[in-house]
Amino acid sequence: MSKKAVVWIRDDFRIKNNSALSYATNNYDTVTALYIYNKKNFDDVREAQKWWISKSLINFKDELIKYNIELELVFSDEITFFSKIKDKHKISIFWNKIYEPSQLKLDDELIKIFEKNKILSKCFKGNVLNEYKNVTKDDGSPYKVYSPFWRVGEQIYLDSIPSKSLNVKRAKSKIKLFKNSNVPDQILPKKNWYKKFEKYWYPSEKQSEKFLNEFVENRMLKYGVDRDYPAINGSSKLSPFIRNGQIHVSNIWDKCYKYKSKNISVKKYLNELGWREFSHSLINYFPEMLKGNLRKEFDKFPWDKNAKNLKAWKNGMTGYPIVDAGMRQLYETGWMHNRIRMVVGSFLVKHLRINWKEGEKHFRNCLLDFNEANNVAQWQWVAGCGADAAPYFRIFNPILQGEKFDKQGLYVKKWVPELERVPNKFIHKPWEMETKYQEAIKTKIGSDYPSPIVVHEEARNAALKAFQTLKN
Ligand SMILES: Cc1cc2nc3c(=O)[nH]c(=O)nc-3n(C[C@H](O)[C@H](O)[C@H](O)COP(=O)(O)OP(=O)(O)OC[C@H]3O[C@@H](n4cnc5c(N)ncnc54)[C@H](O)[C@@H]3O)c2cc1C
Repeated sequence: MSKKAVVWIRDDFRIKNNSALSYATNNYDTVTALYIYNKKNFDDVREAQKWWISKSLINFKDELIKYNIELELVFSDEITFFSKIKDKHKISIFWNKIYEPSQLKLDDELIKIFEKNKILSKCFKGNVLNEYKNVTKDDGSPYKVYSPFWRVGEQIYLDSIPSKSLNVKRAKSKIKLFKNSNVPDQILPKKNWYKKFEKYWYPSEKQSEKFLNEFVENRMLKYGVDRDYPAINGSSKLSPFIRNGQIHVSNIWDKCYKYKSKNISVKKYLNELGWREFSHSLINYFPEMLKGNLRKEFDKFPWDKNAKNLKAWKNGMTGYPIVDAGMRQLYETGWMHNRIRMVVGSFLVKHLRINWKEGEKHFRNCLLDFNEANNVAQWQWVAGCGADAAPYFRIFNPILQGEKFDKQGLYVKKWVPELERVPNKFIHKPWEMETKYQEAIKTKIGSDYPSPIVVHEEARNAALKAFQTLKN
């Protein structure tokens, strides 16, 4: 047997609970970790994540050195690169699955290539609680509704035999296998807006554990309530770490589950991990939803192609403070609060009647936690065209959402500083301030901050009218 193993790192920048890495180090003397940067998966589609990946590579390299493992970075597409590895190189290749239809298809293609080239390879369970194929109805068909999906999914996970502890051993020797290895800085986006991310995030496994511990110790028991208030740090903020695999969801589960019976908040938190599983199941059973509406009747929805309104939405200049605060938080931090994601999403597809795909694309480019499953499923949930979705006619009122969840305007004032002097009474509808008053507080609506680009009631009625056309 060859004594050289390559562990192909994708969304799994971690030592703990990393099946491929554990297997390789327990069975091979020399282990090299490899990251393949395929430009086509990033340029103009996942700009923010380039920063996260670049930093993850630097930090993970340092971690792997402790195990005598080199982390190499190559720029290529996966098929071209792996096709060049032949029997004579005496290399075996291991990796963990990513549960996206295109990635699972790639796995199948690679396995065929490796078999043809007589390369030993194995693909392991990835960052999920359950393999999606294991959670189906009795007749084997997939769930389209979350509650029964998760009732069954949770039980399957609880009944599953806990995997043996996946220890990672120190390799006997370290070698550099690939020529033309690159440096992570080459991945960074051209536009340097990402520099601010450094204020908020440090992409490493240790940091994800710190976030988890801090959440469990101080905030988890209040999660059920606090998670709805964007000015409160109420959620775990683990999403970019989960997305890039600095932490495995099973580790989060194990840490939180023991508190479940004591507190409803814990149940709610674990349910969110269930939603993530549900999204992954949906995109694999219904891959057509990655390209268009899951509910086909929405194909004839009269979307408005209004570039000016789309730009105002992206730039946080709609004149609706809670929407603008969310969009600016996204741009500056690469993350947005969940309730606000729903509010800005609803505003785009209902108030502006712009196709959810535009929002999905913008989030994909700006979110550090972007993943195909959650993003597409949640956008379709917001638009009403997905599985188990919010009905289209349920339209979030951005003024009331603001008044309910950001009563004192703390979130708005943090991200929209030009509204700093606006009193609470008007913070979510600043256009209602009298002109004289606007002058007195030096906050003129229409110049210091935009007037609303649409009038709420009119936009709501237009959305409902457009929705009616689906029924004709
Ligand atoms: C329009 C829209 C787009 C979204 N796009 C993404 C995306 O690309 N990537 C992403 O991870 N989440 C996405 N979400 C879901 C959710 O907003 C984020 O997962 C959450 O805000 C991340 O913050 P957190 O880690 O503090 O979450 P917590 O509340 O602490 O939840 C813990 C984990 O559970 C999972 N989770 C939480 N809420 C959801 C949800 N509604 N659906 C599926 N999984 C969930 C995430 O992995 C999250 O990290 C989207 C939501 C909306 C409304």
